[in-house]
Amino acid sequence: MINELIEQEKIRQNKAINLIASENYASEAVKTALSSSFTDKYAEGYPGKRYYAGNKIVDELESEVKSLAQKVFHTDYHVNVQAYSGSIANLAVYYALLQPGDTFMGLELSHGGHLTHGHPVTLTGHLYKRITYHVDNKTEMLDYDEIQQLAKEHKPKLIISGASAYSRTIDFERISKIAHEVGAYHLADISHISGLVATGLHPSPFGNADIITTTTHKILRGPRGALIFCQDALSTRIDKAIFPGLQGGPHMNTIAAIGVCLEEALQPNYKTYCQTVIENASALSEELKEAGLKIVANGTDNHLFMIDLRPLGIDGNTAQNKLEAAGIIVNKNTIPFDDASPQNPSGIRIGTPAITTRGMTPEDMPELAAKIATILKTP
Ligand SMILES: *Cc1c(COP(=O)(O)O)cnc(C)c1O
Repeated sequence: MINELIEQEKIRQNKAINLIASENYASEAVKTALSSSFTDKYAEGYPGKRYYAGNKIVDELESEVKSLAQKVFHTDYHVNVQAYSGSIANLAVYYALLQPGDTFMGLELSHGGHLTHGHPVTLTGHLYKRITYHVDNKTEMLDYDEIQQLAKEHKPKLIISGASAYSRTIDFERISKIAHEVGAYHLADISHISGLVATGLHPSPFGNADIITTTTHKILRGPRGALIFCQDALSTRIDKAIFPGLQGGPHMNTIAAIGVCLEEALQPNYKTYCQTVIENASALSEELKEAGLKIVANGTDNHLFMIDLRPLGIDGNTAQNKLEAAGIIVNKNTIPFDDASPQNPSGIRIGTPAITTRGMTPEDMPELAAKIATILKTP
């Protein structure tokens, strides 16, 4: 039964035009590593400091993956490769650096932030006092003056930057400056744009931000997992927050697969891939604009953008379902200053990492845009 479902999902994925901005297709080499013998090994602790015997090869693996991560992001920041996912990585940073009740600042969810940036439905919102910053009402781009003013007013211990649904370049340097002026840590969560940062196609927070987290399964095209980078002075606290703070044995098979994806990201064709991802997003959003659709923040600098459905008079669920019926997979998404509920918001999010892995180029975008526009405009 389960094998049958695995086969069915493979077929579904092959047939779909996948525009979910956070998804991708990992290589066969990544999948092979995921199902390797490392899946059977317990390795609580860190290289050279394990609680179980038999970890000589595991130690070599984890050390190598850490050094690959530093190479990919051109950094000598300390790195932890054990976090089970992006959510745990962020939680570990808060656990390491904040006390319950402390104040931190993050981007409002409906303006593009992630749940783990302090939303009340998550543990992060339960344990800490969260102040949200926003995008500007007119430009729908980050309002850095507001971030600065809120930071001065609330004196947070940490400011988190980064987003899950923001199509414009983020000025990490400015946010670091704002954070450090009020004595706060700056955590840059680059989950969505990590590949662009690694290949120099988006300004890097390394060198300015105190901590940087990223998932490994989005544009980075690896297994589900995460990396936490930090300045050396914070390394012990971060490592302890992951193990034993939040996790037990690391998933060594995932860490091996992260290693494979990092090796792939060091190849010259990975930068070409990231460039095409951006070109595809830009071409697709421009075509949709020409077809009369409203794009949040009037376009994109990265791999994704949002369509504001309000002028079309349809809601996110309807748009998502109509597109799915035509084999185009997107996700409904809140848009800035959305009055509708997150269960049925007024936008959809569109990303190009997955279709670019499948070989689509900017020449394919006019046809795809026409298809999307026709579906969304047809009552
Ligand atoms: C996806 C994402 C996460 C969480 O990652 P999971 O692996 O789903 O836990 C955290 N932060 C941002 C900005 C993300 O986009």
